[in-house]
Amino acid sequence: MTCRETKNLLTAYVDGELDSAGSLSIESHVQGCASCLAELENLHALSSAIQNGGLRFKAPQRLKKNIAAAIRAENPKAARIFSGWRWASALAALVLTVVVTWTAATRWATSSQETLLVNDIVSSHVRSTMANHITDVASSDSHTVKPWFAGKLDYSPPAKDLTEQGFRLVGGRLDYIENRPIAALVYQRSQHIINLFVWPSTNTGIRPEDELTRQGYNLIHWTNSGMTYWLVSELNPTELRECARLLRE
Ligand SMILES: [Zn+2]
Repeated sequence: MTCRETKNLLTAYVDGELDSAGSLSIESHVQGCASCLAELENLHALSSAIQNGGLRFKAPQRLKKNIAAAIRAENPKAARIFSGWRWASALAALVLTVVVTWTAATRWATSSQETLLVNDIVSSHVRSTMANHITDVASSDSHTVKPWFAGKLDYSPPAKDLTEQGFRLVGGRLDYIENRPIAALVYQRSQHIINLFVWPSTNTGIRPEDELTRQGYNLIHWTNSGMTYWLVSELNPTELRECARLLRE
């Protein structure tokens, strides 16, 4: 694992959201990397500080008096306005705090949700190549692959044959991502396996980047006509982009 990959997963690790393989790779990386270890310790400290409420303290009465006195000395008129608006500004500060906290928490949750989804996709890809379970239906004929999914899924994934363009359709497979069965279409370019995961879009608020690299794999993501597509392979980004372009055509 590289430092970047590790750092991307640290939040999920601290929140206990990684599977055991993911946790193990984080733990073995930080044993040999001072920079990632420091970041991990910061996250642990932050998370326990938030849990203990140690970040919250009350301003001393003396500080309030000093501020009021300083304003009075500078501008008596402003001081009256200040005292009149005290409650309004306290309320505004409270609202601001709630909004900022909520936004940060939502962002945090969304980014670890995205990390988990991308992890899931990469794991499924790796599993399919390692367990030698690349396809459930092996055929380069889209008229064989497409109907195979009927009755197994409540949607019909496209199974475009791109053999002539250099991306041979190898077959299809049922996979499991985001706690639901989904369609995986499998393509091959020279010795490289390419998985195309397809499922109906759900509005989860996750807006991943269109192109990412995780754990040495390249991923391209898009949505079209209510479907979410994830293309993943160890193939170089240029050729994978070409594959995505042909699939989207
Ligand atoms: Zn590192």
